[in-house]
Amino acid sequence: MKERGIPQELQLLRGLRPRMNFSESEESYYLYKEKGYEGEMNFDKWAVPLSKKMIFLNDINLNQNNNNFQVDSFGISSGTLHHFEVKNLEGDYSIEKGKWTSPSGNPVKNPLLQVDKTETHLNQLVKNYNIPLSVKSHLIFINPEFHLYDVPSNLPIIYPAQMNRFRNNLLQNSSKIRNADIRAAEKLLSLSIGGSPYNSVPKYSYEELRKGIVCSGCGEFYTEAKRILHCEFCGVRESCSDAVLRSVEEFGLLFPDFKVTTKNIFDWCKVIKDERTVQRVLRSNLQMIGNKRSSYYIKGTREKE
Ligand SMILES: [Zn+2]
Repeated sequence: MKERGIPQELQLLRGLRPRMNFSESEESYYLYKEKGYEGEMNFDKWAVPLSKKMIFLNDINLNQNNNNFQVDSFGISSGTLHHFEVKNLEGDYSIEKGKWTSPSGNPVKNPLLQVDKTETHLNQLVKNYNIPLSVKSHLIFINPEFHLYDVPSNLPIIYPAQMNRFRNNLLQNSSKIRNADIRAAEKLLSLSIGGSPYNSVPKYSYEELRKGIVCSGCGEFYTEAKRILHCEFCGVRESCSDAVLRSVEEFGLLFPDFKVTTKNIFDWCKVIKDERTVQRVLRSNLQMIGNKRSSYYIKGTREKE
């Protein structure tokens, strides 16, 4: 019922990274987000056979008692709200006295605490809104290269090697999707809120960011622009209009308050030498608002001239 897109926060980080210098912690946060998204997409692939019997809501933000929380994936079936927390950790982790340790020996946040907290919020939420579902949480480690040492039993953890058996169990224990499940899913979806991705990314301003068009293949900047842009680092080729439109998307995401004007996009793309090239691309792909001098562009069908 709700598919997963690239999270806005990750899109922002991807847009910012080539244009500013991330600190070490910003860089590792970015890599963590990429890794997490990769894991969620692998989870979605794994979950395809379940969709006959389960309604999936992916990447949902909710608020309960002023607590914002995010759920990677809900699967709703037969009166049960399966809450899937997906982790894409890699390597040998261990638990000692409840503390989790990474392969390099550093302490890491205990993901079970997060699962518990979310489950508590969810239990309150379904009770408050009279949603007839009982919550069941699963902590899924999806990366085949993950191992956890010294694990107490009876934790709601699913390891990579158990994934197929776990899925078979879910299939066997779920009946067909009922109307009550659909109604409950719709209710949950109606309660979902937009996240605020701008708070968790590094601070930035237009002036500080490096201008230019970033190659879609390798993330380096194009060094020159003709009808076809050719990346001298990775060899990718892209039409000038595709590259400009990609840059417009990025510009709109990073600066939602700025208008898409020829002048702004010309400055943002930098590598294009003639402002008229930018104008031509905008005119033939976007909808122009306003008169010639003070016009700006929004998404929509192009105006016939
Ligand atoms: Zn490239």
